[in-house]
Amino acid sequence: MDYPVITKPKLDEFRVRPNLEEYHRSVQGFTWEQLRGELDGLPGGGLNLAHEAIDRHAHSDRRDRVALYWEGTGGEEERYTFAKLKELTDRFANVLKGLGVKKGDRVFLFMERIPELYVAFFGILKAGAIAGPLFSAFGPDPVKDRLLDSGAKVLIVTPDLRKRIGGILQSLPELKHVIVVNKNNRSKEPLAPGDISYEKEMASASSNFQIVKTTEDDFSIMHYTSGTTGKPKGAVHAHKAALQHMATGRWVLDLHDDDMYWCTADPGWVTGTSYGMSAPWTNGVSQVVYEGGFRASTWYHIIQKYRVTVWYTAPTAIRMLMRAGDEIPKRYDLTSLRYMCSVGEPLNPEAIMWGLRTIKLPFHDNWWQTETGAILIANYPAMDIRPGSMGRPIPGIEAAVVDEKGKQAKPGQEGDLAIRPGWPSMFRTYWHNQEMYDSKFKNGWYITGDRARTDEDGYFWFIGRADDVINTAGHLVGPFEVESALIEHPAVAEAGVIGKPDPVAMEVVKAFVALHAGYEPTDALRADIMRFVRQKLAAGIAPREIEFVDSLPKTRSGKIMRRLLKARELGLPEGDTSTLEED
Ligand code: AMP
Repeated sequence: MDYPVITKPKLDEFRVRPNLEEYHRSVQGFTWEQLRGELDGLPGGGLNLAHEAIDRHAHSDRRDRVALYWEGTGGEEERYTFAKLKELTDRFANVLKGLGVKKGDRVFLFMERIPELYVAFFGILKAGAIAGPLFSAFGPDPVKDRLLDSGAKVLIVTPDLRKRIGGILQSLPELKHVIVVNKNNRSKEPLAPGDISYEKEMASASSNFQIVKTTEDDFSIMHYTSGTTGKPKGAVHAHKAALQHMATGRWVLDLHDDDMYWCTADPGWVTGTSYGMSAPWTNGVSQVVYEGGFRASTWYHIIQKYRVTVWYTAPTAIRMLMRAGDEIPKRYDLTSLRYMCSVGEPLNPEAIMWGLRTIKLPFHDNWWQTETGAILIANYPAMDIRPGSMGRPIPGIEAAVVDEKGKQAKPGQEGDLAIRPGWPSMFRTYWHNQEMYDSKFKNGWYITGDRARTDEDGYFWFIGRADDVINTAGHLVGPFEVESALIEHPAVAEAGVIGKPDPVAMEVVKAFVALHAGYEPTDALRADIMRFVRQKLAAGIAPREIEFVDSLPKTRSGKIMRRLLKARELGLPEGDTSTLEED
């Protein structure tokens, strides 16, 4: 089915107020340097995201503006002005300093979306340390891998999540302190011996802190992201990324001073920090944070209650809203919304049409990834939307579709989606894995791992991943991580994991499992293996389906041929099987 282009003249109808002027100014000979003056910089020189996102507003006439409207799962409401956030983040930076945290130390966060997560995050940056947020649904294995790899010195955690990972803490030699945030006294249990109470420390810490001097190139945040082989890698970002968060906040999310913004992403993933913290607050814009997960009626309620104007969400969530039906949104007043964006997976044209039909607004798709740190390609307000396309590169970004020699493909031809290195929010390394980092740059391009094509007008169209990485509900899952967890089950001899197409989550994790001799492939065993992996990883990452097989197809060098498993699953041609090991 062909979908109509959604043209610019209709923008008024969509109640969008594009920064057209800014956009046109910026694309003509734009360099990122031109925007530099819009960041404040640290007094005395240097750059720190916490200063740009919080302190500069606390020192301006925005000081009493509510930066964070928080709603808890139990309906609790809290509000934090920029001035209050400055005070709390100063306190927390002092807590960390008191614990001996120094510039460059890794401090990790494993908690639900509560205000203290935001306070701790910016307190870490003020202390000059590197913040590592972890997805709160993770089980002990992913948490252990990430804390070990990063050599985290401090972990900040809530009581229930502390309980979940209690068993791994002894095996983390570099972890010196565990700080427990007992939000509103939700837990009645005493602290474990050696744990530090967030509330107690905050009460006695000074509310004045001088931000540790960081430069724009000093590391600020690390997010772990999955590849085809090995465990997830820590993509490390620098304070300079603030520049691009601020700019894309305006250009792509169309943030204006009086907006009420809602980003539904969890801060354990990069969207939740770049666009759930940095982009709105570097622009001084108020935002809502809802602690809980997805529920159609609750989400509409949040939009109505907080009069959300700009909404940033993801295709899986939109498909779930679509599935919940068109009647529910009719019960809510959603007219405050004036602009909606989506990221993380391909956005189906049907989802854009659904937005137009039910909310009277289209979703604007945009593309980026953990490594790019910020949006690079977008359907931004100053352009027509081509449903199904990721949009066009933002000012200051050179994107292309290239072949394996780095030669640019013609419009319509498939190739690797590549970006000319050097944009402000580009990742700076994979933690302790420079070799892997270097391997992503070829022929003067950063190779993204995605396959794409362009059209005659320079719009980019996503085709798929170039590797075996699975995108389930917008979360990248490395098959190796799941296979490693599966083979720890005593019955499992070997496992191969693929992404199986799914109408809502785009892909779900499917595992092919060969059993050790003596085990019967029963439903009970299947359920047991599923439970086992779920507990180790997270429900969303663990296989949704397990199929027992006698053996797995492997290359002569012993690598599992996931490509072949997938082709067989989908009934597609098996392609080149010349490297297949003979039985
Ligand atoms: P992550 O690093 O976890 O944020 O995942 C990034 C990956 O998600 C990209 O490399 C793409 O494969 C996929 N992705 C992100 N945004 C889009 C989009 N708008 N359309 C298609 N795929 C996307």
